[in-house]
Amino acid sequence: MVDIITFFQTIPNEYRTIILIGGLSFLTVLEMGFPLISFKYDRLKHIALNLFFTLTTILINVAGASLILYACIKAQSLDFGVLNIIELPIFIELIIGIMVLDLIGAWLVHFLEHKVRWMWKFHIIHHTDQYVDASTGLRHHPGEGIIRLCFTSLAVFISGASFGIVMIYQTLSVFFAHLTHANIKIPKKIDRLLSIFFVTPDFHKIHHHFALPKTDSHYGNIFSIWDHIFQSSIKKYEMSSIQYGLDTHMDIEETRNIRTMLMIPFKEYRPPVGSKFGQ
Ligand SMILES: [Zn+2]
Repeated sequence: MVDIITFFQTIPNEYRTIILIGGLSFLTVLEMGFPLISFKYDRLKHIALNLFFTLTTILINVAGASLILYACIKAQSLDFGVLNIIELPIFIELIIGIMVLDLIGAWLVHFLEHKVRWMWKFHIIHHTDQYVDASTGLRHHPGEGIIRLCFTSLAVFISGASFGIVMIYQTLSVFFAHLTHANIKIPKKIDRLLSIFFVTPDFHKIHHHFALPKTDSHYGNIFSIWDHIFQSSIKKYEMSSIQYGLDTHMDIEETRNIRTMLMIPFKEYRPPVGSKFGQ
């Protein structure tokens, strides 16, 4: 276990890139064999657009690694953070570290992105995808990438996780982002059983329904338990009723162009059906 954490502590960026591309390619092949929905779309064009935003997200994370490292060192030197306060066996430390990082660095920031108007405007482009597949996983506006980096650093400080644990979490987080968006058909019983603890492909797709209240539910990334605890999960859902996209941004011309997508946060706020923020 210590060896694995040490390996991730010094993992070269090339290895992380190989894991990311390998995972994405594997899921894309699965999507062709076992699709949840048979999309009539230009797969390559769709992937190319989403990969642009994936690349900017990765660049922000690579550039921000020093901020995360700083949060690790600061928490350690101040004896701050859950894992710096309590002495635990290394395996338990890893599990708790990943859970706290997932709660603050993924669930909480995602929840806030849906509740705070200026944050929502950056998050919109993730929801505008009308063909959700593995490539949608990291389709984030660069501004959202920076917001998420700040919350990940805060999560690192609060958790007191070592840099090795943070790197394991980030690798898992990217894998889950791609897996849970993948357009793959999973046997319903297996998906529902796993979704008691983990975010599964079906569980996450509810979040990509084009209208409220489903859009404002299922915020989890790795663990679904946060949605169960904070009551943001929907008990009964049918995958056949899901329609992807966002009611305020259904014009395909606006959402398949990099320039217009980058401008979305700076345009006037559009209230959704059943308005989210009053006016
Ligand atoms: Zn969302």
